[in-house]
Amino acid sequence: MARDEDTPNDGPARSGCYRPQTELIRGGQTRSPFNETSEALYLTSGYVYSSAEEAEGAFTGEMPRFVYSRYANPTVAMFEERLRRLEGAEACFATATGMSAVFAAMMCQLRSGMRVVASRVLFGSCHYIVNDILPRFGVETEFVDGSDTDAWAAALERPADIVFLETPANPTLEIVDLGAVCEMAHKAGACVVIDNVFASPVLQRPLEFGADVVVYSATKHIDGQGRALGGAVLGSKAFIDEKLFPFAKHTGPSMSPFNAWLMLKGLETLDLRVQQQCDNAQTLADFLDGRPGVRAVRYPGRGSGKQADLARAQMKRGGTIVALEVERGKEGAFAVLNRLQLIDISNNLGDAKTLATHPATTTHQRVSAETRREIGIADGLIRFSVGLEDVEDLKDDLAQALAGVR
Ligand SMILES: *Cc1c(COP(=O)(O)O)cnc(C)c1O
Repeated sequence: MARDEDTPNDGPARSGCYRPQTELIRGGQTRSPFNETSEALYLTSGYVYSSAEEAEGAFTGEMPRFVYSRYANPTVAMFEERLRRLEGAEACFATATGMSAVFAAMMCQLRSGMRVVASRVLFGSCHYIVNDILPRFGVETEFVDGSDTDAWAAALERPADIVFLETPANPTLEIVDLGAVCEMAHKAGACVVIDNVFASPVLQRPLEFGADVVVYSATKHIDGQGRALGGAVLGSKAFIDEKLFPFAKHTGPSMSPFNAWLMLKGLETLDLRVQQQCDNAQTLADFLDGRPGVRAVRYPGRGSGKQADLARAQMKRGGTIVALEVERGKEGAFAVLNRLQLIDISNNLGDAKTLATHPATTTHQRVSAETRREIGIADGLIRFSVGLEDVEDLKDDLAQALAGVR
């Protein structure tokens, strides 16, 4: 309903697709009769009908149109269409948060008795869904070491219904071989759901490697300015229309029109911001490596080895996040964080402001110390989400903060 071809929420009927930077600025815009330049904000929950017959037709689906903003809204539809074009997906549904996108993408297709295989290094709340919530409903779940192709092969010898993973993963920046895992997952009968938040749609397109569904927290790079929460699920028209949309329509994780409007404006500058943030992140990774007090620097695609090769093959650039391990464990990490003057301590990421997090005591506090050790979340690990400040100021701040390790 209101999601068919040629309905207003499917965007302008322009033929042909533009290049990604153009789609980010123009994709999906529909203009009201006032012909506004900027995308209109339709802050409305409902829509009126010119007759009782029209209302009846809207509800039977014979007259596709906007019915209620829990289902679809013109501003939200513009955001969905713009992101859809960027991702190269057939369809998109926008959600209130990244977590509602992850949860809906899984719950809309799971039943008791089904099986989910996921990589072990996940965003904390994603880990909670797979580890704590799904088993309560009779779903069997299994975690594997995401960077170990043999571990995926072993887990996918048995049939599975969903494979869920992040790459690069939060916070260790571990890279999963998308092509290899998608192939094995499909042989096992699974739908592959990728959380593509760390790479952003600008740097990595999981659908091209065989993924079925891509989820985003729009809160991160898409807003990119720390203002609003949002999320999105992208996939085939059949998946979105037949599975995700009916589930979302009736359970209500919809994105608000106001947030969709902010996200539309965020998309306009997404490429510019992410490219500059990658420049800054790369510069900081080089600057930090080998400095006194630094034990290791991780940045996707940097250095040599299988993980670096894989990052270069899957991602256009290394991304906006740098993981730094300092000496003296938690004490060393806290000393650095507490000396920062410009960079803020915050668990958000993808923001224009550079933010630093100590995963072991914040985002991954609930993960046991033993598991943290297994998956590489050292007590001395600090995750930097690199922003848009002048990189020389970021270097100065880090240099003076690192003096605190000793
Ligand atoms: C932040 C984040 C989420 C959750 O997004 P919210 O918008 O905060 O709900 C999911 N996955 C990853 C990798 C994230 O970084």
